[in-house]
Amino acid sequence: MSKVLIIGAGGVGGVVTHKCAQARDVFSAITLASRTESKCRAIAAQIPDFPVQTAQVDADNVPELVALIKAEKPQLVINVALPYQDLTIMDACLETGVDYLDTANYEPLDTAKFEYSWQWAYQDRFKEKGLMALLGSGFDPGVTNVYTALAAKNYLDEVQEIDIIDANAGNHGQPFATNFNPEINIREVTAPCRHWENGQWVESGPLGTKRSFDFPEGIGPMNIYRMYHEEMESLVKHIPTIKKAQFWMTFSDNYLKHLEVLQNVGMTRIDEVEFNGQKIVPLQFLKAVLPDPGSLGPLTKGRTCIGVVAKGIKDGKKKQVYIYNICDHEACYREVKSQAISYTTGVPAVVGAIMMLTGKWHQAGVYNMEQFDPEPFLDVLSKMGLPHVVVEETDWLELT
Ligand code: NDP
Repeated sequence: MSKVLIIGAGGVGGVVTHKCAQARDVFSAITLASRTESKCRAIAAQIPDFPVQTAQVDADNVPELVALIKAEKPQLVINVALPYQDLTIMDACLETGVDYLDTANYEPLDTAKFEYSWQWAYQDRFKEKGLMALLGSGFDPGVTNVYTALAAKNYLDEVQEIDIIDANAGNHGQPFATNFNPEINIREVTAPCRHWENGQWVESGPLGTKRSFDFPEGIGPMNIYRMYHEEMESLVKHIPTIKKAQFWMTFSDNYLKHLEVLQNVGMTRIDEVEFNGQKIVPLQFLKAVLPDPGSLGPLTKGRTCIGVVAKGIKDGKKKQVYIYNICDHEACYREVKSQAISYTTGVPAVVGAIMMLTGKWHQAGVYNMEQFDPEPFLDVLSKMGLPHVVVEETDWLELT
């Protein structure tokens, strides 16, 4: 039985707290800490049958984090604050001798650039201290890494190409809103696209390549747009047979129209501008006026479908396998008071934590999800609400 410290009381933090409280055979005590403690208390109040403790912390401040971890004495810190806090929380875990888990890789505040190099650089320090850091234990990154590992383990002798395809076929009825933190979301989708081809990254314009994908189980065809996503970086490193890796996401015409206007008028800029004698960052101001993703929970209907199409060779012949999960926004809200985007991120974070705390995935050092046996993770993930489906094809099907 373990005590866990969750940092970040946003959409994902809420789901993580609910799901840890459900897994009483693993978690004996939970502390939820964030910048705004009232948000922690509001989440704790949704779970009357588990005594969730709350605390205030500025996760940009290592001494504050160290003091909190020393006071709470958790076995694991689950970081579901923002990617900007990854390194400070890892530093505090090293200083206090506690394992670490997150769902998104580090991103400096002043550059819209995310890559694993900063966190992989902690490898020796975590190893020397006998501590583990599990990186990217959300859905994408996270479950998509595990699906790729499953394809490599059980379905293909050699994985040669992957397409990670993320559809939000839901609707929140708002003119424009993002399903997770607007600042992180808009930085991600407006960044130049990169995909992996023949041993190198190939750069192209943001969302410049469009295809259609016929999603399963009645969702049907939707436009998907190619963009950069962090799990490709670790997957091509750890599964070096992958010659081509691409990430695709659905966006509605309405979302793209609003985004284009916001970009054109400068509202997505991340540099400071002078306004009424004060310095403001336009994207941070935009976040303040857009709907809080948490408020979309009761409004969102429809489903998400996130999966991996892995192509390769099996018994000397071309073969393709599509592994996916479908998640229903309204069912998530009924269970944990959140829409499916936060749910599909928060549940894998808790399953990653369970893998670490039960010793099924525990090794000193800094790891990505595909480096461990996918099956124990997927067994628990299915039981906790995110089962997967495997579709095998005897040839490679091209995206058109
Ligand atoms: P939210 O913006 O809803 O929540 C972030 C929380 O972190 C807020 O409670 C915020 O506090 C808190 N926070 C921010 N800065 C600090 C700080 N300096 N100190 C303490 N707390 C802080 O984001 P989400 O819940 O949507 O996302 C959480 C994480 O999950 C992000 O890193 C995101 O990138 C990741 N994610 C990963 C996905 C995946 O599949 N792998 C998918 C979706 C998200 P306050 O309330 O005061 O602002």
